[in-house]
Amino acid sequence: MKLPPLFAAGILLLAGCAGAPSREPPSPGAPPAPRPGITARPGAVVASPSDVSGTRFIRVLLSGGTSAVVLEGETIRAWGPDGRLSAEAAGRVPLAAVGERIRWNGSTLLGDTLDVAGAPELRVGNRKVGGRLRLLARKGELLAVAVVPLEAYVAAVVSREAPPRFHPEALSAMAVAVRTYVVGAAAKPRDPAYDVVGGVEDQVFDGMDGVAAVFLEASDRTRGLVVRYRGGLARTVYHSTCGGRTEDAGSVWGKDIPYLRAQYCDDCADSPVYRWEYRMSEAEGRRVAKALGVPPGKDLRIAVTGRTPTGRASRVRISSGGVSRELQAAEFRRAAGYAKVRSLKMEIVPVAGGWRFTGEGWGHGVGMCQFGANGMARRGAGFREILARYYPGTEISGESP
Ligand SMILES: [Zn+2]
Repeated sequence: MKLPPLFAAGILLLAGCAGAPSREPPSPGAPPAPRPGITARPGAVVASPSDVSGTRFIRVLLSGGTSAVVLEGETIRAWGPDGRLSAEAAGRVPLAAVGERIRWNGSTLLGDTLDVAGAPELRVGNRKVGGRLRLLARKGELLAVAVVPLEAYVAAVVSREAPPRFHPEALSAMAVAVRTYVVGAAAKPRDPAYDVVGGVEDQVFDGMDGVAAVFLEASDRTRGLVVRYRGGLARTVYHSTCGGRTEDAGSVWGKDIPYLRAQYCDDCADSPVYRWEYRMSEAEGRRVAKALGVPPGKDLRIAVTGRTPTGRASRVRISSGGVSRELQAAEFRRAAGYAKVRSLKMEIVPVAGGWRFTGEGWGHGVGMCQFGANGMARRGAGFREILARYYPGTEISGESP
């Protein structure tokens, strides 16, 4: 099997935790050697993202709030915090939290922390972990934390955020933005046991399945690079399509950020959502009005009442009968649905049977416009030029200053 370079590097690292001796003979019935990736223990538990052989790891919470997970692998081994082999199994292995202990494969009760590796790969909840897995039992809850090499994490996140047909330089710009975010997040972990969560609260990490070579190449090509502003990590936010002009951070979040200022962008015109239209039915309008605290009658009105300097709606008024409520346009958009009212760069027109929304772009509009980045790359711009345009005044450097 030919492995993409990054993943291969991850395996070598696992296998090579630097020449530690193999602790046990192959289990009965297991295929004979070679079994790459599992001949050595994955290393003792580390308290924070660490540098092991020059590779930085990100601890990603895959699942919490549950008492059980199922691991899958041809061979699965688990080590305790002291680095000693605790258990070994093949195929499907159910694990459950019992108070502060972990029940392995329906029988053995182990301690509260396990480091797990699998060969040729480890899956949890049907996702390929892409590194090793740490399991922690906490008051009957089982936390599954993937400990993923930084660059594999970056590639996996970019693969969920951008299509593989994007130009390599645009994917590289995305990789730097994603890396900058997670390096900043890992400096202030969400929990002593993990740095980030694998969902939208941070960046979506769905494991390593379907992470095409172009994404691994984008992270590899920009290995270790982050965006800095005056030495500190920048907030590298991004969105799908700005529709012609990005937005000021101050207009969206109420706080001006010098490098998140509105920029004209004429490179996202080929985005499928450069222009969009949404027909909101009367029933839908009534549902939204009700959700926002306005009892809807026959005379329900929805109108934009304020705009930001870039022309995006900032205030929306909903009125019916004697009740009128003016609210943040972002609140209205959330209630209406982000995939319907795709951006606040929009007009609302009452029509027979409801309202017609016409707009430009998709997303909050702040920071990097992804389709704009792709347009720039197709015109010949490199990822550094792309990042300099959308995060003006920043510089790019290695993750450790
Ligand atoms: Zn744009």
